[in-house]
Amino acid sequence: MRLTKKKIDEVIIKILGEVGLDLVSLLKKSDNISEFDLAKKLNKDIKVIRKMLYLLYNHNLVSFTRKKDKQKGWYIYYWTLINESIKFEYIKRRKILLMNLKHLLNKEQNEIFFYCLSECVRLDFDDSSDFDFHCPECGKLLEQDNNEKRIKELNSRIEEISLELKLIEEEKIKAAKKARKKKIESEKKEVKKRKVEKKKVTTTKKKKVTKKKKSTTAKSNLKKKTIIKKKVSKKKNNLEKEIKKSVTKDKKKVAKSKTNSKKKKITKNKEVKKKNIKKKK
Ligand SMILES: [Zn+2]
Repeated sequence: MRLTKKKIDEVIIKILGEVGLDLVSLLKKSDNISEFDLAKKLNKDIKVIRKMLYLLYNHNLVSFTRKKDKQKGWYIYYWTLINESIKFEYIKRRKILLMNLKHLLNKEQNEIFFYCLSECVRLDFDDSSDFDFHCPECGKLLEQDNNEKRIKELNSRIEEISLELKLIEEEKIKAAKKARKKKIESEKKEVKKRKVEKKKVTTTKKKKVTKKKKSTTAKSNLKKKTIIKKKVSKKKNNLEKEIKKSVTKDKKKVAKSKTNSKKKKITKNKEVKKKNIKKKK
């Protein structure tokens, strides 16, 4: 519901009368206006202004803050109009009006009315019979009122206000739905954001893990390589050792055989010497 000037004025007039309109139009212009400024601008006594402000405050249409004047030592009140409260007040009053109109319509449809031709009074059947069907003001005989036009007017007024309230209600529901949708959407966005953040974290973790894996595999490969190298070198060593062994064996064999052959030679020589000695004898 758009809070038009007409609607605001309707509410203010009901509470303060026409005099309040200037005050409220000043309050509409800015928040936190000091009551002294209001009095000065409206050229009215501060007491009159305060009385009106308190009336508005009693209907929750204004709020205030207060600050201590350091020089004078008293409090200065700063006033702000509460638009939402004016809306609420307007709707509340509309509902009350609708109720009253319905009550009136009901009465018009179910009762008989009498009126004075001089337009002094209009009375229902009971009151008219109390005055013996004469005007209590001028004494003229009362006439029965044809209230068809009145009923028609009441009906159209009721229809109008019902429609207005219905539209306000629909607007409220729409606004509530919109707010709910917005809330849900923002919540969804939040969840998405969190998911993305989680993913980022996990992917970076994974990357780290894979890097680690890579590094570990590289390390293990290195180890393997070194092991293989060691094995190879061991093998080499073994081979060399074997070769050395075999060489030394061979050398020993050679040496043995040499010594054997020397021994044989020596023994042969001895035998030859012995034979020679026997031959000489
Ligand atoms: Zn009369």
